[in-house]
Amino acid sequence: MDRFLACRGCGSVGERNVAEAEDTDPSMRNPVTNPVAVTDERAFEGSLRPVNLLDFQGQVKLKRRLKVFIDAAQMRQDVLDHVLLCGPPGLGKTTLAWVLSREMQANIVVSSGPVLARPGDLVGLLTSLGKGDILFVDEIHRLAPAVEEYLYAAMEDYCVDVVVDRGPGARSVRLDLPRFTLVGATTRSGLLTSPMRARFGMTLRLDYYAAAEIVDVIVRSARVLDVEVDDNASMEIALRSRGTPRVANRLLRRVRDYAQVHGQGCITKEVACSALEMLEVDERGLDEMDRKVLLTIIDKFDGGPVGIHTIAAAVAEEPDTIEDVHEPFLVQEGFLNRTRRGREATRHAYEHLGRALNPRLNQADLFGA
Ligand code: ADP
Repeated sequence: MDRFLACRGCGSVGERNVAEAEDTDPSMRNPVTNPVAVTDERAFEGSLRPVNLLDFQGQVKLKRRLKVFIDAAQMRQDVLDHVLLCGPPGLGKTTLAWVLSREMQANIVVSSGPVLARPGDLVGLLTSLGKGDILFVDEIHRLAPAVEEYLYAAMEDYCVDVVVDRGPGARSVRLDLPRFTLVGATTRSGLLTSPMRARFGMTLRLDYYAAAEIVDVIVRSARVLDVEVDDNASMEIALRSRGTPRVANRLLRRVRDYAQVHGQGCITKEVACSALEMLEVDERGLDEMDRKVLLTIIDKFDGGPVGIHTIAAAVAEEPDTIEDVHEPFLVQEGFLNRTRRGREATRHAYEHLGRALNPRLNQADLFGA
């Protein structure tokens, strides 16, 4: 039997809760450039997910390490050690968990930190695992402390203690678990407790992709979607994708729709540029909210420093969304500085947005800062 085909734990209470959370989470209502997953995109994303390491584009160093790790476990006919995947949303953490299950010919059970609200939820999943199965826990930094405690023993000793009966007759029973692999994913590795971090045999960090790597993602997705995209158009979409495969696939989808409506067969650079202009994604990949954040710092707060909560209030967005979605990209691209006193717009931001340079930045130049 192809063990990979079996995915238990999907379509459960867990998934319903995730959908509910998405309805109330403002980051889920953001535009096309938001790298956070959206519920109604699941089928589209699923169809584009690479299934093996060979198909997984970019992240060369990470893949090399992972290959050694997989080959060694297979040579020993052993179960994979627990793996922690860190990095911003949309870079391929979930995809890698599926790739691991395919490469190891193992079942995968999918859940997430906020969904496993009570120890009982976790115990239910753990006791359903078979030897070598992969338990994928997304957003593992959001596990409740009581659930996390249970996971420690499960990861280290492959057992859980459950309390049966109530009152004076209550007793603790130890349940042995098969050896399994926990694959945890987090966008905020800093929020993970040290005991939890210490229990992973391997930690892999995904970085934003270079434009050439994103071009490879687009070429592969275009092949799967049966869309014709020329080289210049692929590069144009890649440059505006914020180094994130999820955003690249989403832009490709929108550009394809645009090309279809305007009666173009092949997607050329001109078609891609017109479509992206309509989506308000500029040539550096900045969207409306990115520009709003930068212009707020420049125009209302003299270029900063200003605190994240003040910025969030001024642009009417959640501080978490600014911190998780917009800030990492703006910092990475050199538009924003994070200092101990708050956020500051850089010279690059002034130039890109066509604002006269702040005297503070000119002075910094004078003193060679
Ligand atoms: P994350 O779990 O980090 O938020 P996902 O694994 O869900 O991200 O990836 C989002 C989308 O991007 C998926 O549809 C997947 O097909 C695509 N993707 C991610 N990484 C790659 C990659 N390295 N090569 C090709 N496609 C990728």
